Amino acid sequence: MSRIFLLAVFALPLPAAEPVRAVVVTGGHDHEPSFYSVFDDPRIAANVVPHPNAFRSDLTKQYDVLVLYDMMLDLGDDKRRANLRAFVEAGKGVVVLHHAIGNNTNWTWWTDEVVGGRYRFKPEGDIPASSFKHDETVKVSIVKKHPVTAGLDDFIIHDETYRGMWISPRAETLLRTDNPSSDGPIAWLGLHPKARVVYVQLGHDHHAHRHPSFKRLIGNAIVWAGSQ
Ligand SMILES: [Zn+2]
Repeated sequence: MSRIFLLAVFALPLPAAEPVRAVVVTGGHDHEPSFYSVFDDPRIAANVVPHPNAFRSDLTKQYDVLVLYDMMLDLGDDKRRANLRAFVEAGKGVVVLHHAIGNNTNWTWWTDEVVGGRYRFKPEGDIPASSFKHDETVKVSIVKKHPVTAGLDDFIIHDETYRGMWISPRAETLLRTDNPSSDGPIAWLGLHPKARVVYVQLGHDHHAHRHPSFKRLIGNAIVWAGSQ
């Protein structure tokens, strides 16, 4: 190696931290392409894998964090379920977004031990089904100082709300709203002892996707969840 080349190498700035490797799962629910603007973030290297390809193989070597923007009530396949479970149990990151709270609603390990929440698609005894409301003005309050809420102040966003969901009493709320069409908590930390899990309910359409606070929140969630 020549002396000139060595000097050139040492003159380079220190490399930035490696981006977290995110696998983004879609399918089972339509969405606007503005969603993908969230991944225009140098901290994240993302790859989109829609169903039915999602979870076809073991993801633990290739990715640090799973970002779910799909809605599959049932993966319907033991192998896919095993691959998802292996990813979680390897202590990776899981970021569940918006309608993905409808995923795996009959798989109690997923709803009660990983995500800590579930959309009720039908009434359960005396408890009515969950409901949603579009085009709400949502005043968002930061409840907890955390890497996921870093750099955020309370904000107002035009988005969809859900109400009547099952939310685990053990889930730690990060964000809430007093909008009457919402249950209140709209972002929380999941429950798995090894994996870093975050649920964010915001994110229906371009009004949310292009909101600077939404972008910051989702970027933070992906980086935090994918960095252990
Ligand atoms: Zn929606």
